[in-house]
Amino acid sequence: MLSIKNTKEVAFVELNAPPVNALGLSMRQELTAAINQLEKDSEVEAIVLCSALPLFCGGADIAEFRNEALWEMPDLPSLCEKIESSNKPFIIAMAGAAMGGALEIALTCDYRIATSNTLMGLPEIKLGLLPGAGGTQRLPRIAGLEVATQMILSGDPVNGDYALTCGLVDEVFENDDAFLSNVLAFAHEVVSKENPKRRCDEIQVVHPNPTDFLNDFRDKILAKNKHLVAPQRCLQSLQLACELPLAEGLAQEKAGFAELLDTPQSRAGRHLFFAERECTKISGVSRDESSREINDVGIIGAGTMGCGIAIAFLQAGYLVTLLETRQDLLDQGLHQISKHFNRAVEKGRMSIEKAEGFSNNVSGTLDYADFSDADLIIEAAFENMDVKHQIFKALDKHAKQGAILASNTSTLDLNKIAAATSREADVIGLHFFSPANIMRLLEVVRTDKTAPDVIKTAITVAKRIRKLPVTVGVCYGFVGNRMLEPYFREGSRLLLEGATPKQVDDVLENFGMAMGIHAMADLAGIDVGARVRQERRDELAHDPSYQAIQDTLFEMGRLGQKTGRGSYLYEGRNRIVDSEVPLICEGLAKRHGVVRREINEEEILERCLFPLINEGFLILEENIAERSSDCDLIWVNGYGFPNWRGGPMQYADEIGLDKVLERMNFYRQSLGEYGEMWFTPSKLLKELGSKGQSLADYYRNKEE
Ligand code: NAD
Repeated sequence: MLSIKNTKEVAFVELNAPPVNALGLSMRQELTAAINQLEKDSEVEAIVLCSALPLFCGGADIAEFRNEALWEMPDLPSLCEKIESSNKPFIIAMAGAAMGGALEIALTCDYRIATSNTLMGLPEIKLGLLPGAGGTQRLPRIAGLEVATQMILSGDPVNGDYALTCGLVDEVFENDDAFLSNVLAFAHEVVSKENPKRRCDEIQVVHPNPTDFLNDFRDKILAKNKHLVAPQRCLQSLQLACELPLAEGLAQEKAGFAELLDTPQSRAGRHLFFAERECTKISGVSRDESSREINDVGIIGAGTMGCGIAIAFLQAGYLVTLLETRQDLLDQGLHQISKHFNRAVEKGRMSIEKAEGFSNNVSGTLDYADFSDADLIIEAAFENMDVKHQIFKALDKHAKQGAILASNTSTLDLNKIAAATSREADVIGLHFFSPANIMRLLEVVRTDKTAPDVIKTAITVAKRIRKLPVTVGVCYGFVGNRMLEPYFREGSRLLLEGATPKQVDDVLENFGMAMGIHAMADLAGIDVGARVRQERRDELAHDPSYQAIQDTLFEMGRLGQKTGRGSYLYEGRNRIVDSEVPLICEGLAKRHGVVRREINEEEILERCLFPLINEGFLILEENIAERSSDCDLIWVNGYGFPNWRGGPMQYADEIGLDKVLERMNFYRQSLGEYGEMWFTPSKLLKELGSKGQSLADYYRNKEE
């Protein structure tokens, strides 16, 4: 895990615990033992901490956040204190990233050396935490209050060059073969100093007006998100760094870390952290499954999605061929793509050379024969089964053997699309979200017959184009849109029962949703949902009431933002309450025999969220998603669910599945026939809720 190499006067402690030198209990124990040994060694006059890996250290072992090992001694704060109180000077040599706890260790060292590209950051805020091993106290003393506040509140790293300008590091060396000999020479200089120790507790935070500065920062954060607790606690800790001696500042920081660790927001942050790591573990796809090589990508349809998908692939360095039905449509699509890159250049986000390089990598065609070299072909044409069948038949004829054939369909049965080919194992769904070049989520849809290496390849490619691939099975709407359906249903039905669009949206936005249901429908276009419902008329016939309002708005030509009227009126993008909408709802309620009444906020929230959560449980029962955290990733990254709540399933766990079950049963009874139809709890929710168990318990038991 680590080794000690002595040169004359200077000892090198080299961390070597792949993959990231995590600072788990055994690393902390070994480091402490090494320091104890070197402190006793009278020949050693300076101690260098360095790494055998390409990075210095990824920080705390987050797996420990799930158990008590985090607190087992030596914990991180005590390791930091040990280094700081040593009578020998410490030099940290960071030839690669030093994140979180690693940077906090660096701050306790007397001297810090980096390379130009070394990334140093305190990302704890992203897990709903504050840096708990001195980050909020030592960083403002060493690098200044403004740099420290920016780094801690954003969680984003700075590089070595920047760190040198603000005093965070003392020296920047080239990251080459001479790095360690340069460090050694630096260490010899340190040793030659009369008093090489530098005491952080003797440094005061220097700032002309820390309180005003921190208050301004607080206001900015509150304006963006009033719900978050960790930023407030970080700012408090930074304020105290300006007021208290180091030891007292460290004590309150440690207490703050413990407080935050026990908040729903931090649990949510850690839940999503692990969820992202787990979502690529897929049953039937072994870890060492090979990926097919993908260089040339074909895209069918140069509409909204096709162009966005093309941009995502071009930006990752792929060659893209775009196919359309007509030359004018193709030209329009190619123009869209080059316009995107030109705009990026104008805004200074991309160099001209890069933009030209990307634009040169895309070509257009009207002929499937031009797909003969494509390794992956993604269809993004009209959402119609006949169109998809025609396309996949053509692909079967023209694509080379081994090419992956993907569809971006949102609603159609992928098993049926695959059946149009003679190579069903090569067919997969790649469900991008709009705008496809920006949205991080990608639902990877495996059919009954998709080959494991095709799934593996899809995941590898998704990562290369910087997407978050979550693998799901085939059903109507896959995971995301399937869970959206009950959410939308309730949002609409509540309008018939007496709520207004603003009331519903206010409750959801106060809960933390990026946008309420009705504002979202207006943005997406009321016609989009209405057309989908028309396609599924037969399936949905059993309850004509719930989408009555949306369908009526559609018939009235109130299509949302694009027509300036939907559930709201619009002046530009500003929504304005429209008093006509409740009147329309009253009429519809009468027609459908719905009794109107006052509806309180609690009911609005529960009615919108609990059926959505229940749908998540059904999805788990049917194995459409592998784990509940996959549903959470999809809803946080594709549907504006607040990440600080960890996704709908984590939210359900947090408030208690027993409560969700009880309220589902309550609405089932109190809403009569409608309740019976839509509020029946799933088997799994019933099972866990009635035993007082959580989803976390369920997965823990499954593992054991
Ligand atoms: P769009 O109408 O903007 O674009 C579709 C394009 O496909 C058009 O340019 C059309 O000319 C072309 N096309 C139609 N038939 C074709 C054929 N046989 N061969 C080649 N090109 C053909 O539609 P869109 O919004 O980009 O959606 C495309 C697909 O992506 C649909 O399956 C849709 O369900 C899915 N999708 C859309 C969104 C979204 O938000 N728009 C999100 C996820 C998935």
